[in-house]
Amino acid sequence: MIEHSLQAIARALDNREISSVELTQHYLDRIARHNPRLNAYLSVDAASSLAQASAADAQLAKGEGGPLTGIPIAHKDIFCAKGWLTTCGSRMLSNFVSPYDAAVISRFKAAGAVMLGKTNMDEFAMGSSNETSFYGPVNNPWDTSRVPGGSSGGSAAAVAARLTPAATGTDTGGSIRQPAALCNLTGLKPTYGVVSRYGMIAFASSLDQAGPLGRSAADCATLLNVMAGFDERDSTSLDRTPEDYSRELAVTTNAKPLAGLRIGLPEQFFGEGCSPEVMQLVESAITEYRKLGAETVTISLPSMTLSVAAYYVIAPAEASSNLARFDGVRYGYRAPEYQDLNELYCRSRAQGFGAEVKRRILIGTYVLSHGYYDAYYLQAQRIRRLIANDFTSAFQQCDVIVGPTSPSTAFKLGEKASDPVQMYLSDIYTIAVNLAGLPGISIPCGFAGGLPAGLQLIGDYFTEARLLNVAHRYQQANPWHLQRPTGFDD
Ligand code: GLN
Repeated sequence: MIEHSLQAIARALDNREISSVELTQHYLDRIARHNPRLNAYLSVDAASSLAQASAADAQLAKGEGGPLTGIPIAHKDIFCAKGWLTTCGSRMLSNFVSPYDAAVISRFKAAGAVMLGKTNMDEFAMGSSNETSFYGPVNNPWDTSRVPGGSSGGSAAAVAARLTPAATGTDTGGSIRQPAALCNLTGLKPTYGVVSRYGMIAFASSLDQAGPLGRSAADCATLLNVMAGFDERDSTSLDRTPEDYSRELAVTTNAKPLAGLRIGLPEQFFGEGCSPEVMQLVESAITEYRKLGAETVTISLPSMTLSVAAYYVIAPAEASSNLARFDGVRYGYRAPEYQDLNELYCRSRAQGFGAEVKRRILIGTYVLSHGYYDAYYLQAQRIRRLIANDFTSAFQQCDVIVGPTSPSTAFKLGEKASDPVQMYLSDIYTIAVNLAGLPGISIPCGFAGGLPAGLQLIGDYFTEARLLNVAHRYQQANPWHLQRPTGFDD
């Protein structure tokens, strides 16, 4: 069962080959056995998950099941979930039990999915390696001495080790796509505004977007169908006609299912910066795409080279404002000893936040301060516009943009932890997509030295269905995504 697609699990549940309670128990047992080696889950509540499973079984018995009814799903600990500890990977929220559900959580609940647990993450989603979590790093199931990527590293490790059929993540600068690449998964960051951010703890509000982390594009389509949709509680949620994201995935006998597709290869993705072994796998994937009927054109995204610099002004600026609410007064960690109100704030924040979060708050406050706002924040916003314009002109020449997701395969734990700039460069290929608000997906494209590598596909606004199809056709012909790490069989 752990190798079944979501569709196949749904079928097995429908045919009563297995019940949701049995399936959920099976995953809970796997988590108990394997999570100590990975640290992928921060909280599991067996009683609550099994109660949801038995409710799903009752629904299935009445013949009222949908595509996710009774299927266990793990959620990144950035999503508020009623009655669950919701820490966002921080000491600051180590005692926060959410009184309400995030939109993403309530949508999965309404679909009858079973909440399997909350997954580890970089503190407040700041990181690319899952090493900034207050609860310790997550280990990559492909090599436990290496990072799973971040910030949705717990979700990625959990899916990769088959400790859940699928999971949710969030992507502010690459945090779904980069861990997907490092763990041999498929991860989709939707167009900004497609998935509601209500109840998702804010990092950089103009960039944050939730999305699915699964084993295949087809699974991600099923998950996105549940996650996407208008929500008046998020002012940036888009009121669009609902669509079926799996509508293009139907079986075809066409040997060239992607005939007519124009793939854009940005020269900036194929210059320096990427390790030769990852680049070789990306090049082979492009060759495979040509076999499927796609044509390739060279394009240019001239401002993309400025994306990391612009992001590390804009994201910290927004973070410094969003994190101001954690003051030790209303909720969250409060320092045990203080003389006056000012000391209560200072000590609570000094003790409650980790080093990376403090670094971002300092940078963000600095770039927004009088005298520096014009020099840094305003300039970064201008660059953001140029980057978005580059994509708009590129999409006149091509339908999908392809390149690497991450410049390297999974690196060793600790390797970049003391060098923030090296860490920030892990996202050189993913960040521009967030700055422009576009959809992007990472899919497995092979292995280098036993470690998975990811191929990134970027689409124009609202072309998730096409992106998923382009990913799916590759996966049918090149099933790298079916490979799984050893050591998690029992
Ligand atoms: N690695 C990037 C950062 O540290 C992106 C994180 C994310 O997408 N949440 O900000």
